[in-house]
Amino acid sequence: MVTQIAAPSAMTMLDEETIATLRQELRGALLTPGDPGYDEARAVRNGLIDRRPALIAQPTGTADVVASVNFAREHGLLLSVRGGAHNVAGNAVNDGGLVIDLSRMRGVFVDPIARIARVQGGATWGDVDHETQLYGLAVPGGVVSSTGIGGLTIHGGYGHLRRTHGLSLDSLLSVEIVTADGQVRTASATENPDLYWAVRGAGSNFGAITSFEFRLHPIGPVVQLCAPFYALADGPRVIRAWRDFVSAAPDALNSLLVLWSVPDDEHFPEELRRRPIVVVAAVYAGPADEGERLMQPLRELAEPLLDLSGPIPYTALQAAFDPFFPKGRRYYWKSTYIDDLSDDAVSTMVACAKSRPSGLSGVTFWHLGGAMSRVDDEATAYARRDAPYLFTAEASWEDPAANEQNIAWARESLAAMQPFSRGGSYLNFPGFGEEKEAMLRASYGANYDRLVDLKTRYDPGNLFRMNLNIPPRA
Ligand SMILES: Cc1cc2nc3c(=O)[nH]c(=O)nc-3n(C[C@H](O)[C@H](O)[C@H](O)COP(=O)(O)OP(=O)(O)OC[C@H]3O[C@@H](n4cnc5c(N)ncnc54)[C@H](O)[C@@H]3O)c2cc1C
Repeated sequence: MVTQIAAPSAMTMLDEETIATLRQELRGALLTPGDPGYDEARAVRNGLIDRRPALIAQPTGTADVVASVNFAREHGLLLSVRGGAHNVAGNAVNDGGLVIDLSRMRGVFVDPIARIARVQGGATWGDVDHETQLYGLAVPGGVVSSTGIGGLTIHGGYGHLRRTHGLSLDSLLSVEIVTADGQVRTASATENPDLYWAVRGAGSNFGAITSFEFRLHPIGPVVQLCAPFYALADGPRVIRAWRDFVSAAPDALNSLLVLWSVPDDEHFPEELRRRPIVVVAAVYAGPADEGERLMQPLRELAEPLLDLSGPIPYTALQAAFDPFFPKGRRYYWKSTYIDDLSDDAVSTMVACAKSRPSGLSGVTFWHLGGAMSRVDDEATAYARRDAPYLFTAEASWEDPAANEQNIAWARESLAAMQPFSRGGSYLNFPGFGEEKEAMLRASYGANYDRLVDLKTRYDPGNLFRMNLNIPPRA
């Protein structure tokens, strides 16, 4: 029997004997269409994506990853690396190629004395928080526990600790990475420092990362959450007052706004369900009583419809948004940095929220700055650290017939906010990355050309291209 495989320029035919050579090299499974578990392994979070890889390798360790990378390169196969599979564009999977599915590599090993965690490349933030909170420690991660540490860290990492302890990649001490030539390399400040630089912002272009070594920070076990829900009708004055408050806030205060609709869910009062709202979600990364006092004004920006503020275990906080992003829903999320939060920008943002075709969609507005802005733009591949805010249009919907309408809403919202931006997108919310080099140049700024040089050195054949691709020089 012959399996059809997608290659860069043509379809390659691999016979069973050739596939068997890879199977023999792996400790983990090698799935082909029709195998039990194949459909589960090819499904990603975004229900818009429906791809059918020819082969899905499920490594149990670095040796399996090396064998898979070598096999893909030697046979000219399209290659994807699958972490938590949250990427909206579905880069974790492909049609007709090989997927390295890291979901069996989720180990987390904590050294509480040195305050360091070594985490395997397929782990989720839930895995990391579970182990590190045993010692009252944390890595700054994302705000949904099922997101992969892999994709999130290598393009930045915004979470509830970003202003206090920086981006996820700012706590990254080293990685073990399998590069396109099949070599296992360490990248750190002292070993392969150029690769270490590139991984922190553009990691998916440089190899399959089998483990991440993170610095840990003391946090919890309980933190103070401030979460008042205001009517969207009060949006303009709530957002203006929030802006004035956060502009003078200490680094311990990490706040975002969500312009959304109350979920149609039994956990919310019936009379409020589906009502358009502005939620202030602020977390104080310090003593809870101090946070309660400091954040009190955020609970009085207008008359709240509901207020979920209070102390909360850090691990519960990290999973608090989970129910609102189920697997299989349709997602298209796009972002732009906002440099000028003028009153006009506020009104435009509220207008974007009012025009959402789906009540599941939201506009999220992140307050940045603090620790994440005190790193030089040239220190890591990730740039635009000067931006004070990020605007994200998060289109989320269920009806397949409404795909175009929802995607158009996100794109139009971005366009409407451009006058208030000096450019650049947060590359973990890039939509499908359809603007390609224009988006990458605007987001990496002066770092882009150095990334092209390094890509040309480490991956001249562009084996790792199922990502926000930085093509090597010809
Ligand atoms: C519900 C939801 C919540 C989110 N919340 C946040 C948030 O709070 N903060 C934030 O900053 N972002 C957030 N994001 C965006 C998220 O960071 C990106 O979607 C990111 O790409 C997800 O990483 P992943 O490993 O889960 O995804 P994947 O789709 O598996 O991977 C994304 C990209 O990274 C590559 N990759 C993944 N792991 C590795 C690895 N070990 N080695 C090499 N390449 C790898 C993949 O090949 C792919 O190109 C969220 C997304 C969703 C859908």
